[in-house]
Amino acid sequence: MKVDLLNCRNRKELREKLSDVLDNIYSDLFPSDKKVSILIKPNLNSNMNSLTGNTTDLRLLAVVIEYLKDRNYANITVGEGTNSGFFRAGVNVIRRLRVDELARYYNVKVVDFNHSDTIPIELEDGVKANIARDCLESGFFINIPKLKTHFETEMTVCLKSLIGCLAGRENKKKAHSSLIKNILKLNDAIKPDLQIVDGLIAMEGTGPSLGEPKKIDTVLIGTNPYLLDMIASKIAGYDDFRCIPVLREALKQKKIDDFMISEYNSMDMEKNVFKRPEISFWVALTINPRVQKYLIKIRYAPLINRAFNWEITRRLLFGLGISQDFIVFKEPDVSLPYLVNGNCMDGCAVCNDICPVGFDLPGDFGTEKMRSCIKCLYCYSACPQNAVKVDGDMGFFNQQNKQYEGYIRRLFVEDRS
Ligand code: SF4
Ligand code: SF4
Repeated sequence: MKVDLLNCRNRKELREKLSDVLDNIYSDLFPSDKKVSILIKPNLNSNMNSLTGNTTDLRLLAVVIEYLKDRNYANITVGEGTNSGFFRAGVNVIRRLRVDELARYYNVKVVDFNHSDTIPIELEDGVKANIARDCLESGFFINIPKLKTHFETEMTVCLKSLIGCLAGRENKKKAHSSLIKNILKLNDAIKPDLQIVDGLIAMEGTGPSLGEPKKIDTVLIGTNPYLLDMIASKIAGYDDFRCIPVLREALKQKKIDDFMISEYNSMDMEKNVFKRPEISFWVALTINPRVQKYLIKIRYAPLINRAFNWEITRRLLFGLGISQDFIVFKEPDVSLPYLVNGNCMDGCAVCNDICPVGFDLPGDFGTEKMRSCIKCLYCYSACPQNAVKVDGDMGFFNQQNKQYEGYIRRLFVEDRS
Protein backbone atom coordinates (compact mmCIF):
# COMPACT_ATOMS: atom_id res chain seq x y z
CA MET A 1 0.00 0.00 0.00
CA LYS A 2 1.60 3.23 -1.13
CA VAL A 3 0.98 6.40 -3.08
CA ASP A 4 2.70 7.25 -6.37
CA LEU A 5 3.17 10.89 -7.32
CA LEU A 6 3.54 11.96 -10.93
CA ASN A 7 4.63 15.38 -12.10
CA CYS A 8 3.01 16.03 -15.48
CA ARG A 9 3.23 19.41 -17.19
CA ASN A 10 1.27 18.48 -20.28
CA ARG A 11 -0.92 15.82 -21.84
CA LYS A 12 1.98 13.98 -23.44
CA GLU A 13 3.81 13.58 -20.13
CA LEU A 14 0.56 12.61 -18.43
CA ARG A 15 -0.07 9.81 -20.91
CA GLU A 16 3.49 8.49 -20.78
CA LYS A 17 3.94 8.62 -17.00
CA LEU A 18 0.49 7.30 -16.15
CA SER A 19 0.83 4.34 -18.53
CA ASP A 20 4.24 3.59 -17.14
CA VAL A 21 3.10 3.54 -13.49
CA LEU A 22 -0.08 1.58 -14.22
CA ASP A 23 1.87 -1.02 -16.20
CA ASN A 24 4.73 -1.35 -13.75
CA ILE A 25 3.04 -1.00 -10.37
CA TYR A 26 -0.71 -1.55 -10.69
CA SER A 27 -1.06 -4.05 -13.55
CA ASP A 28 -1.97 -6.91 -11.16
CA LEU A 29 -5.02 -4.94 -10.04
CA PHE A 30 -6.62 -4.86 -13.48
CA PRO A 31 -9.06 -7.66 -14.26
CA SER A 32 -7.97 -10.34 -16.72
CA ASP A 33 -11.49 -10.47 -18.24
CA LYS A 34 -11.44 -7.81 -20.97
CA LYS A 35 -15.25 -7.72 -21.07
CA VAL A 36 -15.61 -6.73 -17.42
CA SER A 37 -17.56 -3.51 -16.75
CA ILE A 38 -15.14 -0.74 -15.86
CA LEU A 39 -16.52 2.37 -14.17
CA ILE A 40 -14.56 5.63 -14.21
CA LYS A 41 -15.90 8.26 -11.81
CA PRO A 42 -14.63 11.82 -12.25
CA ASN A 43 -15.61 14.72 -9.99
CA LEU A 44 -18.06 16.89 -11.94
CA ASN A 45 -19.07 19.25 -9.19
CA SER A 46 -20.19 22.18 -11.32
CA ASN A 47 -20.26 23.37 -14.92
CA MET A 48 -16.90 25.14 -14.52
CA ASN A 49 -14.24 23.22 -16.41
CA SER A 50 -11.03 21.75 -15.07
CA LEU A 51 -8.94 24.87 -15.77
CA THR A 52 -10.87 26.65 -13.01
CA GLY A 53 -9.87 23.94 -10.51
CA ASN A 54 -13.50 22.87 -10.12
CA THR A 55 -13.77 19.57 -11.96
CA THR A 56 -11.75 16.58 -13.11
CA ASP A 57 -9.44 17.32 -16.02
CA LEU A 58 -10.66 15.86 -19.32
CA ARG A 59 -7.01 15.14 -20.20
CA LEU A 60 -6.79 12.73 -17.27
CA LEU A 61 -10.10 11.11 -18.17
CA ALA A 62 -8.96 10.79 -21.78
CA VAL A 63 -5.61 9.18 -21.01
CA VAL A 64 -7.21 6.70 -18.57
CA ILE A 65 -9.74 5.73 -21.27
CA GLU A 66 -6.92 5.43 -23.85
CA TYR A 67 -4.95 3.24 -21.43
CA LEU A 68 -7.91 0.89 -20.98
CA LYS A 69 -8.77 0.78 -24.67
CA ASP A 70 -5.15 0.10 -25.62
CA ARG A 71 -5.37 -2.95 -23.34
CA ASN A 72 -8.57 -4.06 -25.06
CA TYR A 73 -11.10 -3.39 -22.30
CA ALA A 74 -14.40 -3.21 -24.14
CA ASN A 75 -16.97 -2.21 -21.53
CA ILE A 76 -16.02 1.23 -20.18
CA THR A 77 -18.45 3.69 -18.57
CA VAL A 78 -17.83 7.18 -17.26
CA GLY A 79 -20.31 7.93 -14.45
CA GLU A 80 -20.94 10.70 -11.93
CA GLY A 81 -23.85 12.08 -9.92
CA THR A 82 -23.30 15.71 -10.77
CA ASN A 83 -23.87 18.61 -8.34
CA SER A 84 -27.39 18.56 -6.90
CA GLY A 85 -27.97 22.32 -7.38
CA PHE A 86 -27.45 21.97 -11.12
CA PHE A 87 -29.43 18.72 -11.15
CA ARG A 88 -32.33 20.45 -9.37
CA ALA A 89 -32.19 23.27 -11.93
CA GLY A 90 -32.36 20.76 -14.78
CA VAL A 91 -28.86 21.62 -16.05
CA ASN A 92 -26.90 18.80 -17.65
CA VAL A 93 -23.39 19.24 -16.22
CA ILE A 94 -22.06 16.19 -18.07
CA ARG A 95 -22.98 17.86 -21.37
CA ARG A 96 -21.74 21.29 -20.31
CA LEU A 97 -18.33 19.90 -19.38
CA ARG A 98 -18.25 18.01 -22.69
CA VAL A 99 -17.84 14.67 -20.91
CA ASP A 100 -20.55 13.26 -23.19
CA GLU A 101 -18.58 14.42 -26.25
CA LEU A 102 -15.36 12.96 -24.84
CA ALA A 103 -17.17 9.64 -24.27
CA ARG A 104 -18.47 9.77 -27.84
CA TYR A 105 -14.97 10.53 -29.15
CA TYR A 106 -13.64 7.38 -27.46
CA ASN A 107 -16.80 5.34 -28.01
CA VAL A 108 -17.42 4.64 -24.30
CA LYS A 109 -20.65 4.97 -22.30
CA VAL A 110 -21.55 7.82 -19.98
CA VAL A 111 -24.16 7.84 -17.18
CA ASP A 112 -25.46 10.45 -14.79
CA PHE A 113 -25.90 8.66 -11.44
CA ASN A 114 -28.66 11.13 -10.59
CA HIS A 115 -30.85 9.24 -13.08
CA SER A 116 -29.47 5.74 -12.50
CA ASP A 117 -30.87 2.52 -11.18
CA THR A 118 -30.03 2.55 -7.45
CA ILE A 119 -29.33 0.42 -4.38
CA PRO A 120 -30.03 1.64 -0.81
CA ILE A 121 -27.23 1.81 1.73
CA GLU A 122 -27.39 2.68 5.41
CA LEU A 123 -26.00 6.01 6.58
CA GLU A 124 -25.70 7.41 10.11
CA ASP A 125 -28.67 7.13 12.49
CA GLY A 126 -30.24 4.37 10.38
CA VAL A 127 -30.95 6.76 7.48
CA LYS A 128 -31.20 4.95 4.13
CA ALA A 129 -29.93 6.61 0.96
CA ASN A 130 -29.75 5.40 -2.62
CA ILE A 131 -26.52 5.12 -4.53
CA ALA A 132 -26.08 4.31 -8.20
CA ARG A 133 -26.08 0.54 -8.69
CA ASP A 134 -23.06 0.81 -11.03
CA CYS A 135 -20.92 2.01 -8.12
CA LEU A 136 -21.39 -1.31 -6.32
CA GLU A 137 -21.73 -3.68 -9.24
CA SER A 138 -19.07 -2.60 -11.73
CA GLY A 139 -16.24 -5.10 -12.15
CA PHE A 140 -13.53 -2.47 -11.69
CA PHE A 141 -14.04 1.03 -10.26
CA ILE A 142 -11.57 3.86 -10.91
CA ASN A 143 -12.18 6.98 -8.82
CA ILE A 144 -10.71 10.17 -10.36
CA PRO A 145 -11.37 12.96 -7.84
CA LYS A 146 -10.14 16.53 -8.04
CA LEU A 147 -7.77 17.80 -5.36
CA LYS A 148 -9.52 20.83 -3.82
CA THR A 149 -10.04 22.79 -0.67
CA HIS A 150 -13.62 22.73 0.60
CA PHE A 151 -15.50 25.19 2.78
CA GLU A 152 -17.35 22.43 4.67
CA THR A 153 -14.77 19.65 4.87
CA GLU A 154 -11.49 21.63 4.52
CA MET A 155 -10.47 19.40 1.59
CA THR A 156 -12.17 17.12 -0.90
CA VAL A 157 -10.17 14.34 -2.51
CA CYS A 158 -10.89 10.57 -2.75
CA LEU A 159 -13.14 10.13 0.30
CA LYS A 160 -15.50 13.09 -0.17
CA SER A 161 -15.79 12.58 -3.91
CA LEU A 162 -17.95 9.47 -3.36
CA ILE A 163 -20.83 11.79 -2.41
CA GLY A 164 -21.29 11.89 -6.19
CA CYS A 165 -22.36 8.22 -6.09
CA LEU A 166 -25.57 9.25 -4.30
CA ALA A 167 -28.45 9.59 -6.72
CA GLY A 168 -30.10 12.98 -6.98
CA ARG A 169 -30.71 15.81 -4.56
CA GLU A 170 -32.85 13.78 -2.12
CA ASN A 171 -30.10 11.28 -1.39
CA LYS A 172 -27.25 13.79 -1.29
CA LYS A 173 -29.33 15.85 1.15
CA LYS A 174 -29.62 12.83 3.47
CA ALA A 175 -25.83 12.51 3.63
CA HIS A 176 -25.51 16.14 4.70
CA SER A 177 -27.29 15.61 8.01
CA SER A 178 -24.07 14.01 9.31
CA LEU A 179 -21.65 14.72 6.50
CA ILE A 180 -18.28 13.60 7.90
CA LYS A 181 -19.49 10.26 9.25
CA ASN A 182 -21.55 9.64 6.14
CA ILE A 183 -18.53 10.17 3.89
CA LEU A 184 -16.90 7.32 5.80
CA LYS A 185 -20.08 5.21 5.55
CA LEU A 186 -20.06 5.71 1.78
CA ASN A 187 -16.44 4.62 1.62
CA ASP A 188 -17.26 1.54 3.69
CA ALA A 189 -19.95 0.62 1.16
CA ILE A 190 -18.19 1.59 -2.06
CA LYS A 191 -14.61 0.54 -2.41
CA PRO A 192 -13.06 1.80 -5.63
CA ASP A 193 -10.28 -0.47 -6.87
CA LEU A 194 -8.00 2.34 -7.96
CA GLN A 195 -7.76 6.05 -7.14
CA ILE A 196 -6.17 8.56 -9.51
CA VAL A 197 -6.24 12.05 -8.02
CA ASP A 198 -6.32 15.02 -10.39
CA GLY A 199 -3.99 17.64 -8.96
CA LEU A 200 -2.99 18.99 -12.39
CA ILE A 201 -4.89 22.21 -11.78
CA ALA A 202 -6.10 21.91 -8.20
CA MET A 203 -8.28 24.37 -6.28
CA GLU A 204 -7.29 26.50 -3.29
CA GLY A 205 -9.35 28.91 -1.20
CA THR A 206 -13.07 28.65 -0.75
CA GLY A 207 -13.76 25.48 -2.73
CA PRO A 208 -15.36 23.35 -3.97
CA SER A 209 -16.78 25.88 -6.48
CA LEU A 210 -15.65 29.34 -5.43
CA GLY A 211 -11.93 28.86 -4.95
CA GLU A 212 -9.00 29.70 -7.21
CA PRO A 213 -7.17 27.37 -9.60
CA LYS A 214 -3.69 26.32 -8.50
CA LYS A 215 -1.54 24.64 -11.12
CA ILE A 216 0.58 22.02 -9.37
CA ASP A 217 0.89 19.54 -12.29
CA THR A 218 0.51 16.59 -9.91
CA VAL A 219 -1.30 13.27 -10.15
CA LEU A 220 -1.52 10.88 -7.17
CA ILE A 221 -2.17 7.17 -7.69
CA GLY A 222 -2.94 4.50 -5.13
CA THR A 223 -5.53 2.14 -3.77
CA ASN A 224 -6.05 3.36 -0.22
CA PRO A 225 -8.29 6.48 -0.15
CA TYR A 226 -7.31 7.37 3.44
CA LEU A 227 -3.61 7.40 2.67
CA LEU A 228 -4.17 9.30 -0.59
CA ASP A 229 -6.20 11.97 1.23
CA MET A 230 -3.51 12.20 3.93
CA ILE A 231 -0.81 12.73 1.29
CA ALA A 232 -3.02 15.23 -0.56
CA SER A 233 -3.39 17.26 2.65
CA LYS A 234 0.40 17.29 2.98
CA ILE A 235 0.80 18.50 -0.62
CA ALA A 236 -1.70 21.29 0.13
CA GLY A 237 0.51 22.38 3.01
CA TYR A 238 -1.57 21.26 6.01
CA ASP A 239 0.78 20.65 8.94
CA ASP A 240 -1.07 17.54 9.96
CA PHE A 241 -3.66 15.31 8.27
CA ARG A 242 -5.77 15.64 11.44
CA CYS A 243 -6.60 19.18 10.25
CA ILE A 244 -8.99 17.51 7.80
CA PRO A 245 -12.20 16.56 9.67
CA VAL A 246 -12.91 13.39 7.70
CA LEU A 247 -9.36 12.11 8.32
CA ARG A 248 -9.66 13.00 12.01
CA GLU A 249 -12.85 10.96 12.19
CA ALA A 250 -11.26 8.12 10.20
CA LEU A 251 -8.40 8.01 12.71
CA LYS A 252 -10.92 7.91 15.56
CA GLN A 253 -12.72 5.02 13.86
CA LYS A 254 -9.35 3.22 13.42
CA LYS A 255 -9.51 3.31 9.62
CA ILE A 256 -6.04 4.89 9.66
CA ASP A 257 -3.37 2.63 11.15
CA ASP A 258 0.26 3.07 12.24
CA PHE A 259 1.60 1.86 8.91
CA MET A 260 -0.36 4.56 7.05
CA ILE A 261 0.85 7.20 9.50
CA SER A 262 4.46 6.11 9.01
CA GLU A 263 4.01 6.20 5.19
CA TYR A 264 2.51 9.69 5.53
CA ASN A 265 5.38 10.85 7.76
CA SER A 266 8.06 9.41 5.54
CA MET A 267 6.79 10.76 2.21
CA ASP A 268 9.00 13.58 1.17
CA MET A 269 7.40 15.93 -1.33
CA GLU A 270 7.07 19.48 -2.47
CA LYS A 271 4.46 21.24 -0.38
CA ASN A 272 2.24 23.91 -1.89
CA VAL A 273 0.65 26.13 0.67
CA PHE A 274 -2.94 26.33 -0.50
CA LYS A 275 -5.08 29.27 0.55
CA ARG A 276 -7.57 27.99 3.12
CA PRO A 277 -11.34 28.20 2.72
CA GLU A 278 -12.77 31.46 4.09
CA ILE A 279 -16.13 31.13 5.76
CA SER A 280 -18.39 34.10 6.38
CA PHE A 281 -20.77 34.27 9.36
CA TRP A 282 -23.72 33.32 7.10
CA VAL A 283 -21.94 30.35 5.60
CA ALA A 284 -20.76 29.18 9.04
CA LEU A 285 -24.38 29.31 10.17
CA THR A 286 -25.63 27.26 7.23
CA ILE A 287 -23.05 24.50 7.75
CA ASN A 288 -23.35 24.30 11.53
CA PRO A 289 -24.56 20.71 12.09
CA ARG A 290 -26.87 21.84 14.90
CA VAL A 291 -28.80 24.22 12.67
CA GLN A 292 -28.22 22.60 9.29
CA LYS A 293 -30.93 19.97 9.59
CA TYR A 294 -33.53 22.66 10.38
CA LEU A 295 -32.25 24.92 7.60
CA ILE A 296 -32.49 22.08 5.09
CA LYS A 297 -36.15 21.56 6.05
CA ILE A 298 -36.88 25.28 5.70
CA ARG A 299 -34.89 25.57 2.47
CA TYR A 300 -36.97 22.90 0.75
CA ALA A 301 -40.41 24.04 1.95
CA PRO A 302 -42.39 24.57 -1.32
CA LEU A 303 -42.78 28.38 -1.09
CA ILE A 304 -39.20 29.02 -0.01
CA ASN A 305 -37.94 26.61 -2.63
CA ARG A 306 -39.75 28.68 -5.28
CA ALA A 307 -38.18 31.90 -3.99
CA PHE A 308 -34.74 30.28 -4.20
CA ASN A 309 -35.27 29.89 -7.94
CA TRP A 310 -35.75 33.64 -8.51
CA GLU A 311 -32.73 35.23 -10.15
CA ILE A 312 -32.58 38.00 -7.55
CA THR A 313 -32.41 35.42 -4.72
CA ARG A 314 -29.78 33.40 -6.54
CA ARG A 315 -27.67 36.52 -7.13
CA LEU A 316 -27.98 37.52 -3.47
CA LEU A 317 -26.98 34.07 -2.17
CA PHE A 318 -24.08 33.92 -4.61
CA GLY A 319 -22.98 37.44 -3.62
CA LEU A 320 -23.02 36.47 0.07
CA GLY A 321 -21.05 33.30 -0.71
CA ILE A 322 -23.88 31.15 0.70
CA SER A 323 -24.38 29.62 -2.70
CA GLN A 324 -21.14 28.66 -4.45
CA ASP A 325 -22.65 28.50 -7.92
CA PHE A 326 -24.54 31.06 -9.94
CA ILE A 327 -26.35 28.97 -12.52
CA VAL A 328 -26.78 30.49 -15.97
CA PHE A 329 -29.40 28.65 -17.97
CA LYS A 330 -28.40 29.56 -21.51
CA GLU A 331 -26.56 26.83 -23.40
CA PRO A 332 -23.71 27.89 -25.71
CA ASP A 333 -23.94 27.84 -29.47
CA VAL A 334 -20.39 28.31 -30.74
CA SER A 335 -18.25 27.52 -33.77
CA LEU A 336 -15.21 25.30 -33.68
CA PRO A 337 -12.23 27.12 -32.17
CA TYR A 338 -9.96 28.75 -34.74
CA LEU A 339 -6.66 30.57 -34.73
CA VAL A 340 -6.09 34.29 -35.16
CA ASN A 341 -2.69 33.75 -36.72
CA GLY A 342 -1.17 37.11 -36.03
CA ASN A 343 -1.66 36.65 -32.29
CA CYS A 344 -0.13 33.18 -31.98
CA MET A 345 3.30 33.06 -30.46
CA ASP A 346 4.97 30.25 -32.31
CA GLY A 347 6.38 27.55 -30.06
CA CYS A 348 4.37 28.44 -26.97
CA ALA A 349 2.40 25.15 -27.24
CA VAL A 350 -0.02 25.76 -24.34
CA CYS A 351 -2.96 24.71 -26.55
CA ASN A 352 -1.04 21.54 -27.46
CA ASP A 353 -0.35 20.76 -23.78
CA ILE A 354 -3.94 21.27 -22.76
CA CYS A 355 -6.06 19.62 -25.50
CA PRO A 356 -7.77 16.57 -23.93
CA VAL A 357 -7.98 14.57 -27.14
CA GLY A 358 -4.37 15.24 -28.08
CA PHE A 359 -4.71 17.32 -31.24
CA ASP A 360 -1.44 18.62 -32.60
CA LEU A 361 -2.09 22.30 -31.94
CA PRO A 362 -1.84 25.00 -33.12
CA GLY A 363 -1.17 23.22 -36.44
CA ASP A 364 -4.46 21.30 -36.41
CA PHE A 365 -6.63 24.42 -36.09
CA GLY A 366 -8.61 24.87 -39.30
CA THR A 367 -7.91 21.35 -40.57
CA GLU A 368 -10.30 18.48 -41.29
CA LYS A 369 -9.20 16.86 -38.00
CA MET A 370 -10.96 19.61 -36.05
CA ARG A 371 -14.31 18.16 -37.08
CA SER A 372 -13.94 15.77 -34.15
CA CYS A 373 -13.11 18.58 -31.68
CA ILE A 374 -15.22 18.11 -28.52
CA LYS A 375 -15.55 21.91 -28.02
CA CYS A 376 -14.29 21.79 -24.44
CA LEU A 377 -12.75 25.25 -25.06
CA TYR A 378 -9.64 24.49 -22.98
CA CYS A 379 -7.50 25.89 -25.83
CA TYR A 380 -9.65 29.05 -25.96
CA SER A 381 -9.40 29.64 -22.18
CA ALA A 382 -5.71 28.80 -21.76
CA CYS A 383 -4.08 30.55 -24.74
CA PRO A 384 -1.90 33.26 -23.14
CA GLN A 385 -2.00 35.35 -26.34
CA ASN A 386 -5.79 35.27 -26.80
CA ALA A 387 -5.09 33.78 -30.21
CA VAL A 388 -7.81 31.11 -30.12
CA LYS A 389 -11.30 32.37 -30.94
CA VAL A 390 -14.79 30.97 -31.27
CA ASP A 391 -17.77 32.65 -32.91
CA GLY A 392 -21.29 32.61 -31.49
CA ASP A 393 -23.05 32.84 -28.15
CA MET A 394 -21.04 31.39 -25.24
CA GLY A 395 -24.11 31.06 -22.99
CA PHE A 396 -23.26 29.83 -19.49
CA PHE A 397 -19.55 29.79 -20.39
CA ASN A 398 -19.62 33.61 -20.03
CA GLN A 399 -19.98 33.06 -16.27
CA GLN A 400 -16.78 30.98 -16.23
CA ASN A 401 -15.05 33.69 -18.25
CA LYS A 402 -16.26 36.35 -15.83
CA GLN A 403 -15.07 34.46 -12.73
CA TYR A 404 -11.94 32.74 -14.01
CA GLU A 405 -10.62 34.15 -17.31
CA GLY A 406 -7.87 36.20 -15.63
CA TYR A 407 -6.83 33.41 -13.28
CA ILE A 408 -6.57 30.85 -16.08
CA ARG A 409 -4.51 33.01 -18.42
CA ARG A 410 -2.18 33.91 -15.53
CA LEU A 411 -1.62 30.21 -14.77
CA PHE A 412 -0.26 29.63 -18.24
CA VAL A 413 1.61 32.92 -18.60
CA GLU A 414 3.40 32.26 -15.26
CA ASP A 415 4.13 28.73 -16.42
CA ARG A 416 6.07 30.00 -19.43
CA SER A 417 7.99 32.74 -17.63
S1 SF4 B 1 -1.64 28.63 -26.90
FE1 SF4 B 1 -2.12 30.37 -28.22
S2 SF4 B 1 -0.17 31.43 -28.54
FE2 SF4 B 1 0.30 29.40 -27.72
S3 SF4 B 1 0.67 28.14 -29.55
FE3 SF4 B 1 -1.50 27.90 -28.99
S4 SF4 B 1 -2.58 29.43 -30.17
FE4 SF4 B 1 -0.40 29.99 -30.23
S1 SF4 C 1 -9.13 21.80 -30.01
FE1 SF4 C 1 -9.63 23.03 -28.21
S2 SF4 C 1 -11.83 22.83 -27.98
FE2 SF4 C 1 -11.18 21.21 -29.37
S3 SF4 C 1 -10.86 19.43 -28.06
FE3 SF4 C 1 -8.87 20.47 -28.24
S4 SF4 C 1 -8.78 21.89 -26.50
FE4 SF4 C 1 -10.92 21.22 -26.72
